[in-house]
Order: sequence, then structure tokens, then C-alpha cells
Amino acid sequence: MMDQQTHRRRRLLLIGAGHAHAGVLRSIAEMPMPGVEIILVSPSPGVPSSGMLPAWLAGHYRWDDICIDFPSLCRRAGAQFLLEAVSAIDPDASQVTLASGAVLNYDFISLNIGPTLVPPAHAGLKLIPLRPLYQLQQPWQDLQDQVRQLAPGSKFAVLMVGAGAAGVESILAMQHALSVLAPQVQLRFTLAGAGSEILNGIAPIAAHRLERRLAQRGIHVVRNFSALRCEGDAVLADDGRALKADCVFWATAAEAHRWPRASALLVDKAGFVRINHTLRSISHPNVFAVGDCASWDTPLPKAGVFAVRMGPVLAHNLRAVFAGEPLLPYRPQRRFLTLIGTGDENAVASWGIVGFEGKWVWRWKQRIDQRFLAAHR
Ligand SMILES: Cc1cc2nc3c(=O)[nH]c(=O)nc-3n(C[C@H](O)[C@H](O)[C@H](O)COP(=O)(O)OP(=O)(O)OC[C@H]3O[C@@H](n4cnc5c(N)ncnc54)[C@H](O)[C@@H]3O)c2cc1C
Repeated sequence: MMDQQTHRRRRLLLIGAGHAHAGVLRSIAEMPMPGVEIILVSPSPGVPSSGMLPAWLAGHYRWDDICIDFPSLCRRAGAQFLLEAVSAIDPDASQVTLASGAVLNYDFISLNIGPTLVPPAHAGLKLIPLRPLYQLQQPWQDLQDQVRQLAPGSKFAVLMVGAGAAGVESILAMQHALSVLAPQVQLRFTLAGAGSEILNGIAPIAAHRLERRLAQRGIHVVRNFSALRCEGDAVLADDGRALKADCVFWATAAEAHRWPRASALLVDKAGFVRINHTLRSISHPNVFAVGDCASWDTPLPKAGVFAVRMGPVLAHNLRAVFAGEPLLPYRPQRRFLTLIGTGDENAVASWGIVGFEGKWVWRWKQRIDQRFLAAHR
């Protein structure tokens, strides 16, 4: 079905309810863009903040407390919210195809679709990918109900595949929640990472503190485990080792969505959209891409803080292209703060080569995350 509407107003499509688009909508709510029809396409109305997701897993928040309500943000910005997913883009024709088959034209488009995860086929194994975040609510609720109802003395094993910050923070949170919920159960937690080190990219001293926490909490760490496939109730590594579990969470490195790579857009080797310093696609100037789905000339860490900081520059540049005005460059910060909760109202901070931890770090993290959410409510 073609987009039959002959739109006199020029159209801006915002694809994905990501961190930067939250900032763009907020900016448009404060200062509208007259003459521009704005449509946000997202497969989910409420989108959890990734920074707060582990604290929700740990049981410190309700789901609604950690979500940004994008339909209401769109209403404030005078934008249309479309509950859909994009399945293809034709940047030469300035068109996207939605999962429903509908086609939308655009004058300018901005992609803030984050990364994805593609776990192996897993018949017979309960496997829950940590992305997309909005799909985690029900599986985690179901798992907690299942474990809570287990008979005293029964065993239950949880495996986290992926030992980056998200995997470590999430397994610590899960261990905290399940131990409180089901003290009668013999719980076993395993964290498997592909490299010899875990938590690459954060200060070694912070990584060391987190490793100590994992050990204190009885979480078994398996290194050099390059997960390849699933068989029965086990995940197998490329060297033939197998890890069995009753439930597997998948938190491996960020992967690019297939549909931008399948288009004429210029992407990097991994499939992320190549952008210039004004956040525009290098191959198609009426396409912008931000956050984890974009590829900078020197690779940026896949972290929400970059997507958040791109928001104001993107908001300015989207106004500028419609007004025919100069664009601003985005300048990524060289160091960034990482705050990793340990599930028990404690957190570890990493800043450059510095690392420290404490209950106060956890409270600091909550203040930052809650301020971000409050700004978009
Ligand atoms: C458990 C966990 C904890 C994390 N904690 C932190 C942290 O504390 N600090 C930090 O900096 N980073 C953290 N990260 C990393 C962070 O989540 C990502 O770097 C960040 O979400 C990237 O932001 P983004 O705006 O690029 O994309 P996202 O936040 O992923 O948003 C992309 C949006 O696009 C939507 N989308 C996807 N495909 C389509 C489609 N085809 N059509 C339409 N919409 C689509 C998605 O549904 C999603 O809402 C964490 C990650 C995880 C998994």
C-alpha cells in the first residue's frame, strides 16, 4: 500500500524511540517546527530507559517508572506517533516500508533505532535476549513467577551470555532479585564472556571491583567462551564447551539491524550507518542517523550517553535543514562516566582510568537516570 497522502507540508520521519529522538521531541515541544509534519515510528509506545533497566530487574522500580511515554511526548511536540516498525528503506526514493507493508515518503529522515541482538536458534531452551528492551517485561515477570513457585531445595540455573557492562549489571540485578524472591531455591548463576577479560572498555580498577562483587555473590565467570549455538538445554562454544541452564539471557555485543545494510545507505563493515560530523549519512544527505545505529569515523562506544548527547545537535540540525540554515557539528566527549549497579543499591563508577564504588554511587546514578526520565515526561 502506498502512502496516498499528497502532503503539502514537508515531512520529517523519526524512526525509533531512542534517546536522541526523545531529546528532539522535547525540543520541538518547546519550540515547534511550523510547516513540518513530524511522524515518529516505534514498535512500542513505552520505552524503558536502559540506564534504569537493571534497577528494574533488581526489583527497585516498577516497569512504568522506568519508561518514557513516547505517544504523550509526541502529542506535546505536535507529532504523530505511529505504532509500527520499519522493515526497509529506499534512500534513493526517500521512502521507508513498514512491517505492515505501508510505504511512507519523507523529505528528511532520522534513524535512532539502536542496535539489535541475534541469538542462535534455540529450540527447547528458554532464551531471552536483552534487546529489544521493551520486550523484556513479560519474560522477566514470568521467570520470577516460575522461580518463586519452585519447591524448597530445587535447583535453578541462570546463564548470561555476554560479559560487557550490560551483561554484568543485569546478572547482578537478577541474582539480587531472585535470591530475595526465592530463598528456598538453590540458584546458580553463570556469566560467560567471549574474551579472556570481562567488562572491556571500563577502567580496570572498576572492572576489578565488579569482578570481586561477582565472586562474593557466587556468580561463576566463564572466560573465552565464544557462544556459537544452542543444543537441548545448553549453549555451546566454538571450542565445544557446553554450559547448561534453565534459562539463558543473551547480552552479546551490539549488532546492526539488517534493513539499513540491505539498502543503498553507506554502512560500515558491521552494518552501522556511516555519518559525518553533522550526524548526516555520508551517502544520503536527507538521512540522519544517531546513537548506536550510527558509525562515526573513529568508532564511538555503543553507550546511551552518546545518543543522549547527540539529541540537541540533531534537534538543531533537523530544524536547520528545513530552514536552509547551517548545521552544527557534534563533538563526542573523549571520556564518559559509566555507572554500573550491583543490584543491592550499590554501584561502581568508571571514569577514564578512575574507578570507585559505594551506596552513594548508586544514589548518584538514580538521580541522573531519574532526571533524564523526568525531563521527558
Ligand atoms: C541492560 C542494559 C543496560 C545498559 N545500561 C547503560 C547505561 O547505564 N549507560 C549507557 O550509556 N548505556 C547503557 N546501555 C547501552 C544503551 O542501552 C545503548 O547504548 C543505548 O540504548 C543506545 O541508545 P539509542 O538511542 O541509540 O538506541 P535505543 O535506546 O536502543 O533505542 C532504539 C529504539 O529504536 C526502536 N527500533 C528498533 N528497530 C526499529 C525499527 N525497525 N523501526 C522502528 N523503531 C525501531 C527500538 O524499539 C528502540 O526503542 C545499556 C544496555 C543494556 C542492554
